[in-house]
Amino acid sequence: MKVIGILGGMSWESTVSYYQALNQGVKARLGGLHSARLLLHSVDFAEVEALQHRGDWDALARLLVDAALGLQGAGAQGLLIATNTMHKLAPQLEAALEIPLLHIADAVGARLKADGVTRAGLLGTRFTMEQDFYHARLAARFGIELLVPEAEERQRVHDIIYRELCCGQIRPDSRQAYLDIMAKLQARGAQAVVLGCTEIPLLVQPQHTDIPLYDTAALHAAAALEWALA
Ligand code: GLU
Repeated sequence: MKVIGILGGMSWESTVSYYQALNQGVKARLGGLHSARLLLHSVDFAEVEALQHRGDWDALARLLVDAALGLQGAGAQGLLIATNTMHKLAPQLEAALEIPLLHIADAVGARLKADGVTRAGLLGTRFTMEQDFYHARLAARFGIELLVPEAEERQRVHDIIYRELCCGQIRPDSRQAYLDIMAKLQARGAQAVVLGCTEIPLLVQPQHTDIPLYDTAALHAAAALEWALA
């Protein structure tokens, strides 16, 4: 079993789900007392969030590259960034590392494609919904078109992530807001919705809707499990 390095803490609320999914996956596959071989570098998210909203992506790249080099030096054989948003910096990390980066959008794209989904809604931070790094990768590698909510709704989705979900708050009114926005995406032609922020699955789960959901944290962890056990 290979050693997986995780850049986590963005936020820690969702890093917990990676730790759990990877260990449950290894247990299911290998049985007995087997558990995942992991190294975790968990950042202070307050610092990260401030730099994101200031637009200082160079400082964020330095922070993540330093942390990733530490994981590589400590023996990680592959790297997970346990957040969709920070995959904006995937090129800088890939350039600095010798070990492979297991990209979250590839895990999601592979599953969407296998399921025959060509047009999906995307919910996530404004960075993920509005910038090109996520859309472009899914379009170029998997032929998938992502639809995003209208501007005001994108702001609401973003605010709920940072003000509630990353603080561990799960509110029924916010869940309803997400479900309403998802229904509009479906009416515009989305065959499914990508939960493109690793905290959203804490709020919206398949039992809340008939729209097929793609949990990016779960798919990312599952792809890492396959890689680690291959
Ligand atoms: N975990 C979130 C994501 O998947 C948002 C937090 C962050 O900005 O990293 O995008």
